[in-house]
Amino acid sequence: MRLITRFSFLLAPLCLTLSTAHAAENHWSYTGDHGPSHWGDLGSSLCSSGNEQSPIDVEKSKVEPKRVAASELKLHYGKAPLTLINNGHTIQASVSDGDRLSYKGTEYRLLQFHFHNPSEHQFNHQPYPMEMHLVNQDKDGHLLVLGLMVKQGHANKQLAALWKQLPAKEGEQTQIAAKLAPNLAKLVPTASHHLYYHGSLTTPPCTEGVQWVLFEQPIEMSKQQIEQFHQLFPDNHRPTQTASGREVDED
Ligand SMILES: [Zn+2]
Repeated sequence: MRLITRFSFLLAPLCLTLSTAHAAENHWSYTGDHGPSHWGDLGSSLCSSGNEQSPIDVEKSKVEPKRVAASELKLHYGKAPLTLINNGHTIQASVSDGDRLSYKGTEYRLLQFHFHNPSEHQFNHQPYPMEMHLVNQDKDGHLLVLGLMVKQGHANKQLAALWKQLPAKEGEQTQIAAKLAPNLAKLVPTASHHLYYHGSLTTPPCTEGVQWVLFEQPIEMSKQQIEQFHQLFPDNHRPTQTASGREVDED
């Protein structure tokens, strides 16, 4: 009996320490003590030690042109039912099924899309007001992310219905029927050049081996649509990471 008591004395502070450490590992943000410069110390070491991190500042003068044939990227996107969630870091739309793309002969399935304010990638040191990421995965788990820059202009009709239902509170989620979901085939610019490079997730754990495809032609959202997102997420971007030694190809 005495032994058990002694053990529980020993165990109590240990459990507390472990649970605190575990909570810290999972808690990251875009500002302050848990912001991007601390992600590496919060249990996601790749965020500080990785060599192929995203996003990057694309300097157009250094881009290698026409290394990839545009025909190697084929999108088979449309309308699909979505689960829209405010995960505390962004608004994410999880796609149940149906949207696919192929890149260099490999098939990928669209898992989810989400948004950043301001854009994470920059072009010649200039950010855009927002950036949309469409995260695709092949059958072996490899990720390919499409990055669409958002400039201020006309209201985006494809996103209008979604924007009426943005979940305002962290953890809140809502189901979107296919008829109210954006037609992604119409949302994504068709006559656009693309930039290709190897990078990472832009959030912890900053996993590398991600094929990035950035569309050079931005999509448009109205001032009101952009402001509505900015009110929910005043800043949810990771700063640009070093691109040195990496090839950025253009089609
Ligand atoms: Zn993203």
